[in-house]
Amino acid sequence: MLAQEIIRKKRDGGALDAEEIAFFVQGLVDGSVRDEQVSALAMAVFFQGLTLEERVSLTLAMRDCGSVLDWSDVDAPVLDKHSTGGVGDNVSLMLAPALAACGAAVPMISGRGLGHTGGTLDKFDSIPGYTTQPDNALFRKVVKEVGCAIIGQTADLAPADKRFYAIRDVTGTVESLDLITASILSKKLAAGLQGLILDVKWGTGAFMGSYEEAKALAESLVTVANGAGCRTTALLTDMNEPLASAAGNAVEMRNAVDFLTGREIDNRLFDVTVALGAEALVIGGLATDADEGADRMRRAFASGQAAERFARMVAGLGGPTDFIERPEIYLATAPVERAIYADAPGTVVGVDARAVGIAVVELGGGRHTSDEAIDPAVGFTHLAGVGHTVDSDGPLAIVHAADEAAAARATKAIRAAYRIGKPIDVEDRPVVAERVTAAS
Ligand code: URA
Repeated sequence: MLAQEIIRKKRDGGALDAEEIAFFVQGLVDGSVRDEQVSALAMAVFFQGLTLEERVSLTLAMRDCGSVLDWSDVDAPVLDKHSTGGVGDNVSLMLAPALAACGAAVPMISGRGLGHTGGTLDKFDSIPGYTTQPDNALFRKVVKEVGCAIIGQTADLAPADKRFYAIRDVTGTVESLDLITASILSKKLAAGLQGLILDVKWGTGAFMGSYEEAKALAESLVTVANGAGCRTTALLTDMNEPLASAAGNAVEMRNAVDFLTGREIDNRLFDVTVALGAEALVIGGLATDADEGADRMRRAFASGQAAERFARMVAGLGGPTDFIERPEIYLATAPVERAIYADAPGTVVGVDARAVGIAVVELGGGRHTSDEAIDPAVGFTHLAGVGHTVDSDGPLAIVHAADEAAAARATKAIRAAYRIGKPIDVEDRPVVAERVTAAS
């Protein structure tokens, strides 16, 4: 087979068969397909698209090009969640232990921050000693004994994606629904899941800005995942403002600990976490319907069982055994903390969540390039949500910065990101907008 013939076929609108796709994926892994050929195929796919059959073949070939985890020795439904990414989105930190408390096994393989969106692994790096790269034996031990383990991508899971994504990133071909679908699902399916819940976000802080684009991605992911044998449902959720009242790494970890221990719970974050968990429990056969699933999730939080699983996971992966009781002694704090006030009092009527995410990156809490170190302590807390009153008592946010100059830049960025108006201008938006299932 010749790579150039496969590229030509796709360029002219033909449908590739499973062998041609597998040949290309193998070439991605062993280097026999050159960078310029990969980028040409990516561009041809971008313009011509893939049929459902091609999308499934690409996903399966990418899944099978490395190791696929086998959990057949685990006596629980093996479930996970994937989010398309947002700002103040620390759902995984509560969801994984709550699902474990409800009887699921959750081997959650997470990523680092991408662009303006935060990454779960960066948040876990703020816990001293916690390893996001355990060896396979420790990963399996923690999943089996605790019910959940949140770790980083290993080099042997779907290795084609790493090279493919890096080439797409520099050739203007990331935004292909077909390629995004195969990229996300190949990694999730290689984790050996039986069921997957997808949090597909739309709005100012989402990867997919418009509702229609997000829905198309949700439909593509749900169809291909179910076609590949993994029971999958998606929820379309609102990312028109940060989900948690914190954005950053240590500050989002602290926000999660406060949620789990019941000290302080952000309402929208709670609603999304419970809704995703409820669907996951239905997928895994641990609840008969979403209402029962939601009930079980609420009880997992209220009883402290989710918090207990979280604490055991942290200790099992090398973190402090008393982290959840005393997070303040372990989490880094920034030298400068300042309240940011609006120029004039009023009601928050809109937030550019992407701008908030970029402000976190500019503070040093995210990366401009993939090898940059990040400052775990910086970010924002007390972010005012849509509908909140802001005045001389109620700030827009509190900035946590490395120095005064960074705090001043962040203050300007946050003021620009918030739209202040009258209460009548506030739209009533449910945070979970729609459910996409295989049958819908
Ligand atoms: N996230 C991924 O993992 N892959 C993509 O292609 C886009 C977002």
